[in-house]
Amino acid sequence: MAEQNVRIVLARRPQGTVTAECFGSERTGIPEPAEGEVIVRNRLLSLDPYMRPRMTELHSYTPPFELDQPLTGGGIGEIIKSRTDRLAEGDVVVGMLDWALYTRHNGIGLRKIDPAAAPLPAFLGILGMPGFTAWHGIKRIGQPKPGETVFVSAATGAVGQLAGQLARLAGARVVGCAGSSAKCDWATRELGYDACFDHRRERDYARVLRELCPKGIDVDFENVGGAIFHAVFAAMNNFGRMIMCGMISEYQDSTPQLGPEKMFTIVQKRLRIEGFIVSDHVRDMGSFLSEVGGLLRDGKIKSRETIVEGLANAPSAFLGLLQGENFGKLIVRIA
Ligand code: NDP
Repeated sequence: MAEQNVRIVLARRPQGTVTAECFGSERTGIPEPAEGEVIVRNRLLSLDPYMRPRMTELHSYTPPFELDQPLTGGGIGEIIKSRTDRLAEGDVVVGMLDWALYTRHNGIGLRKIDPAAAPLPAFLGILGMPGFTAWHGIKRIGQPKPGETVFVSAATGAVGQLAGQLARLAGARVVGCAGSSAKCDWATRELGYDACFDHRRERDYARVLRELCPKGIDVDFENVGGAIFHAVFAAMNNFGRMIMCGMISEYQDSTPQLGPEKMFTIVQKRLRIEGFIVSDHVRDMGSFLSEVGGLLRDGKIKSRETIVEGLANAPSAFLGLLQGENFGKLIVRIA
C-alpha cells in the first residue's frame, strides 16, 4: 500500500482548448473514514468526454468541478477500510471516485461488482456507463428496423462501438465515421459496420454520405456534432430518429455553435430529435446488463479499450481523448 495519497486536482479552468496546466497534483495523507464512510483503493479510472464541460464554471446537468479539488469520475476500486454495514473490506466496487490513489467516500452510489463475472475494464466500458448509453439510445430512442440505415459518429469509441453493433444485430445497414483508417478497419472487420469513413481525411461529408448511405439515413446516433451532424441532418429520411447523445466536437468551444440550416426540415421530414442523459434511466440498468452481458458471453459483440498506465498520466490521456487518441474506451490503470 502506498504511504501517501496522490490526487489530481483542477488547477485552473480552461479557456478554449484544455491544456496540461489545467491540472495539478498534490500529496496528502491516506484518508481515514468517518462513521458511515469507506476508503477505496482506486484501481481503474474511466476518462469520459463529459468531464470537459465540467471543467468550466457553467452549470450543466452535472455541477462543475471545483478549483483545487480532485477531479472525479467513474472508477473501480477495492474497499480497504469500512465504517458502514453496507460495504466490507475487500469488496470491489464501481462508482464515482476521485482522480487519486485513494478515495474517501460516503458509499452512496458505490455498487459491488463480481470481478469473476467479466474483466474489470468491461465494467467501465461495454458493461458500464458508455455501454448503457449506447443501449438506451438504440433500444429506447432509435429503435432501428431491419433494412433501415443507421449512422454512428465516433463509431469505434466507448459508446459508438456498442451502438453500431446493436444496430447491426437489429438488422440495419450500419455506417459510421471515425478518426483514422485503423479505426475504420476495425469497425468494418470486427464490429460489423457495413461502411466507415475517416472524418479527418474526408472533408466533403455530404458527398461521402450520399455514397455510403444511398437510401438516406433513418437513425442517427449523434456523438460528435458540428459539420458531421449538419451533413447527417440533411441526409435524414422521412420519419428518421436522431439520438442526441453528445457533441464532443463542440466541448472546447468558447461560443456555442449554431444548429444546422433549414430547421423546417424537422417538420417536413417528421423527424424525431431526442436528447437524453443516461443517468436518468438507471431503472433500466438490469435489463441492459442482462441483454448486453448475454451478447458478450455468447461472443455476439466485441469491445475494445485503451488502457493508460499510472495516475500521473491521466491528464495527458484526457487531452488525448479530446483529440481522438483513444481507440475504444479510455481507462487509466492505477493499481
Ligand atoms: P469516445 O470513446 O468515443 O472518445 C471520444 C472520441 O470522440 C474520440 O476518440 C474521437 O474519435 C472523437 N472526437 C474527439 N474530438 C472530436 C472532434 N473534434 N471531432 C470529431 N470527433 C471527435 O467517447 P465516448 O464514447 O465516451 O463518448 C461519445 C459521445 O457520447 C460524447 O459526445 C459523450 O459526451 C457522449 N456521451 C453521452 C452520454 C449521455 O448520457 N448522453 C453518456 C456518455 C457519453 P475519432 O478518433 O473516431 O474521431
